[in-house]
Amino acid sequence: MALGNPPLNHPDPPNDPSHGADLFVIGPLGVGILAIDGGLTAGLLEAATVIVRKRFFDSNHLYGMSRHFVWSIPVVYALLFLILGLAFVVGRRLATRVLGAMVILPALLAAFPQVYALALLIVALGVSIRVVPFFENRPGLTKRILARGLPVLITIVLILAVEPLLVGHYRGWRESSRPLPAAGSPNVMLLVLDTVAADHLGLYGYGRPTSPTLDELAGRGVRFGAVRATASWTLPSHAGMFTGRWPHELSAGWLDPLDSAQPTLAKYLSERGYATAGFVANTLYCAWDSGLDRGFTTFRDFPLTPLGMLRSATLVSRSLDGVQTAAGWADEMLGVAWLAPKTQFLAWLLDSDRKDAATVNRQFEDWLNHQKPVKRPFFAFLNYLDAHYPYQIPPTGIHRFGVAPRTPREATLVLDWWRTDKKSLNPGEIAFVRDLYDDGIAHLDEQLGRLIDTLDRERTLENTWLIVVADHGESFGEHEGVFCHGMSLYQTEVHVPMVIVPPGSVQDGRLVSETVSLRDLPATIVDLLGLTENSPFPGTSLAGTLRSVAARAPGDHPGRALSEVVPNNPLDPDRVRIMVKRPYLVSLAEPDWSYIMNQETQREELFHLKNDAAEAHDLAKNPDAKEVLKRMRDASSRLINGPTAPAARLPRN
Ligand SMILES: [Zn+2]
Repeated sequence: MALGNPPLNHPDPPNDPSHGADLFVIGPLGVGILAIDGGLTAGLLEAATVIVRKRFFDSNHLYGMSRHFVWSIPVVYALLFLILGLAFVVGRRLATRVLGAMVILPALLAAFPQVYALALLIVALGVSIRVVPFFENRPGLTKRILARGLPVLITIVLILAVEPLLVGHYRGWRESSRPLPAAGSPNVMLLVLDTVAADHLGLYGYGRPTSPTLDELAGRGVRFGAVRATASWTLPSHAGMFTGRWPHELSAGWLDPLDSAQPTLAKYLSERGYATAGFVANTLYCAWDSGLDRGFTTFRDFPLTPLGMLRSATLVSRSLDGVQTAAGWADEMLGVAWLAPKTQFLAWLLDSDRKDAATVNRQFEDWLNHQKPVKRPFFAFLNYLDAHYPYQIPPTGIHRFGVAPRTPREATLVLDWWRTDKKSLNPGEIAFVRDLYDDGIAHLDEQLGRLIDTLDRERTLENTWLIVVADHGESFGEHEGVFCHGMSLYQTEVHVPMVIVPPGSVQDGRLVSETVSLRDLPATIVDLLGLTENSPFPGTSLAGTLRSVAARAPGDHPGRALSEVVPNNPLDPDRVRIMVKRPYLVSLAEPDWSYIMNQETQREELFHLKNDAAEAHDLAKNPDAKEVLKRMRDASSRLINGPTAPAARLPRN
C-alpha cells in the first residue's frame, strides 16, 4: 500500500531530530489511513478502558450505554478523526500532535470521569508532544506500523461488532435445544408501566379517565387494590419482581446492577424450556448492564440510533454535555425567551433517544411473529417508559388532560423536570406538569390497548397469563418538597396497580383488597405454571387468590408489604447527574396502616390508610396509635434485620 512519498519500504534515515520531522511527508491517502488508524486505536483504547475500569475498579457500576459500544466507539472515532484529518491542511506539525493527543484523550476521559476534560486534554497534548516526534523521526517505521496496523484494527472492530450477533445466535440455539415444557403450558406476559402511580388511574378511582384499557382488562381478570412496590424506583423494584427479594437483600443500588447471586424468574423459566424475551424502554435502569437481562434469550434495550452510537463515544457525550451547559449559560445571559437554546437542545436530544410504547410493542410483536409456529411457551417482559419524565408524548399522541408547552419556561419544566428547583414552582406549574403526566399515562394506556387488540386478534391471550403492573409511582409535592420518585415511601410512590388476566378469561372483574407486594410475583408465576418444585423464590404465591378468592385458606397471605429506599453514596461518580443524598428509608404497609421510618434520623411516620389515604395526618406521636406503632416498628425491624442478602444468598446460578 502506497502512502505517498517516501514509499513504505523506504529505510529509516539516521535518527537525527534536527531534520527528522521534515522527512515525514504524507499524502492525502496517508492522512486518511493515519486518521482511521488513530480513530480506531483511540476507540479501542477507550472501550478497553471502560471495560477494565468496570471489571477491576468500579465493578458495580452500570455501563449506561448499548452493549454495542465495543465497536460503535471505534467507528465513531474513525469518522471523527477523518474530519480531524482536515487539520493537516492547516499544518502538519500541529495536526500530528493534536491527532496524537486525541488518540489517548478518550481513554483518559473514560478512566477518570471525575477529572475536568480540559485538564486531561492538557495531559494528552503533553504526552503527544513528547511521543509524536519519536515516530516523525522514523518515517519508514511509522508508515509500516500505520499501514500494517490498519487491517488488524479493522479486523478487531469487525469481530467486536459480530460478537453480539454470535452470542444472540448461541442463546437462541441453547434455548431451542432445551426440552419443551409440558404440553399446553401457558405463556406469561409481564407488562411493567414504568412510573405509573395507582392513584393516577381511573381504575383506582382517579377523577380522570386515564386508563380505559386497564379498566377493561380488570373486567376480564383480577384487580389488586393494595399492591406495594418493594422500592420507589426502577432497578430494585424490577429486581424484586424478578427475584422475590426485598431491596436490602439485593445488590441493586443507585449505580449498582443486580448481580448474579439470586436466581431470576427469566433464568428459572428458560431452564424449564420457556422462550424468554425482554423489551425495555427504560435504558437507564433496565438495560443489559442492569443485570435484569439475566435469563432472557432475547433482550432489546437501547435503540441503535446514529445519535446513540455517537454518544457512546466519551468525546462526543462529554462535548454534548458541554453544549448543554453552554446553552444553559446562554439562556441565563441572553435572556432571549424565544430562543431558549437549552430547551431546544434538550428537546433535540430527547427526541432522538426516547423509546416509546409503540416501539416496544412493535419489537415484541416482531419477536412473537418470528416464533411462529409457536412451539415453546414464552415469558415476555415489556417495560414502558411513556409516563416517566420528561412528560412528553409523541407528536402523534393526544393531549387529553394537559397542553403542550407554550413558553420556554413550560418547555423546560417538561424537559428538565428532574433538575428543576421545585421550591421555585407555583401551584399552576405543578398542575401543568401533573396534567402532562396524566397525558403520558393515557397515551401509554392507549398503546397498551393496541397491543391487547393485536393479541386478541391473534388469539395469543387464550393461552397467556397477562400481568400488568407498575414498578413505582410518582410524587407531585403531595408531601412537602417530595417530587418525582425514589425520594420517599409515601403511597404516591409505592402504591402501584396490578391487574392479572388468566388465560382466555373474558369476564371476571374480581377485586382483591388485601395488601400484597410486587415481590410476590415470581412465587405466584411459578405456582400458576405448576413449576414450584425446587423454586428458589420467596414471597407468597397469589395463585390461590387468583384461582378463587373464596377458596383461599385463612392466613394464606400475611397482608403486609415492605418497601425500601436504599441509601446512596452522593460522592459516587454520577454519570447522569441525578444523585442527591438519599437516606435509608423503610416502610411497612398493612391493609389499614402505613408505617415509614428514616433509619438515619430515626424519624417515624404512621398513617391510617383507610381514613387517610392521602397520608396527610401523621399519627406516630398520637398516644392512641402507640401499640400499632410498636407493632409495625417491630415487624419492619424483623424484616430488615432478618437474613439479608449475603447470608441468604443461594448458590450462584
Ligand atoms: Zn421506574
